[in-house]
Amino acid sequence: MSKVKVGINGYGTIGKRVAAAVNRQDDMEIVGVTKTRPTFEARSAVDRGFGIYVPEGSLQSFKDAGVPVKGTVRDLYGVADIIVDCTPGDVGEKYKAEYEAAGIKAIFQGGEEHSLTGISFNSTANYSESWGAQFSRVVSCNTTGLLRTLSPIDRNIKIKNVYATLVRRAADPGDSKGGPINGLEPTVKLPTHHGPDVKSIMPWLNINTMAIKASTTLMHLHTVVAELERESSTEEILNIMRTSPRVRLINSRSGLKGTAEIMELGRDLGRDRSDMYEIAVWEDGVKVIGSMLYYYQAIHQESDVVPENVDCIRSMCKLEEDASASVSKTDRFLGIN
Ligand code: NAD
Repeated sequence: MSKVKVGINGYGTIGKRVAAAVNRQDDMEIVGVTKTRPTFEARSAVDRGFGIYVPEGSLQSFKDAGVPVKGTVRDLYGVADIIVDCTPGDVGEKYKAEYEAAGIKAIFQGGEEHSLTGISFNSTANYSESWGAQFSRVVSCNTTGLLRTLSPIDRNIKIKNVYATLVRRAADPGDSKGGPINGLEPTVKLPTHHGPDVKSIMPWLNINTMAIKASTTLMHLHTVVAELERESSTEEILNIMRTSPRVRLINSRSGLKGTAEIMELGRDLGRDRSDMYEIAVWEDGVKVIGSMLYYYQAIHQESDVVPENVDCIRSMCKLEEDASASVSKTDRFLGIN
């Protein structure tokens, strides 16, 4: 069977990771990535063997900088079956019309509104809803984190209410913009958009969220309080989490006290770019009292959505009907176990 041909529009934090992850699979391949300027990232894409496609008006600047180009962005549409749009938030809307005109499929990211596609994606919660779709949207890193843990719990024990507080990294490690660099900034418009975003996939879930931006770049950290439909036990919840895809139970007693140590573990695992694709949940920080569940989880914002993009391609291009088969396949090639 020939491989699905994937193009990446926007080779930044998410785009470069999705490109690497796609090329590790055996049923899909990258046919090109777009860059708007001949930066060091454009050169590193060339070094990794990716063909570069640029806007018509940028051809000369790439030529002047000596960065080889395969063609224009329109040429990429001609060779790709599907585009993974990893442009900055709110830019994707402009491209949707181009993908539509070219008759190709496209996946957007969490910086776009759910209304852009009408379908949002998470591998654990709703893989089949994107089956054969022309457009879908992989929800943001924080929403992916909430869905990874909440959806298996809701499937096993119904959840009445969720209250979550998100301590958000202020910028990605490679950014020199963003902030605060020394302070904490609450998001005062409540509830924050994260709860409604979870509802774009689990509309029945009663969830509200608050968020604080913190001066760190490593990970987000969530405190989650869930009121369950019935009484449960810490052990029952831990058993659900142990068998949930892309959830890694960690223990503070083993030295994993915070996000710094988790990312050190990520470096020790030796994966691409030291990424930590799984949501890290502190096993010794999970507690059930009656029907109230409390836990902490950490999210590596640069990478948790990467395996979901691979699964979303499989669902939209009808490569694998079974969600857990796709998840296992993606994880095997990315070294997630
Ligand atoms: P980024 O800024 O790191 O990368 C965006 C890339 O798109 C850059 O290479 C930029 O040069 C390019 N670009 C900018 N304008 C463009 C245009 N008009 N046409 C084509 N390319 C253009 O952004 P990112 O962090 O990778 O975010 C991409 C998407 O993923 C956003 O929707 C974001 O909300 C979402 N997301 C980001 C994170 C994160 O933590 N970084 C996590 C999950 C989801």
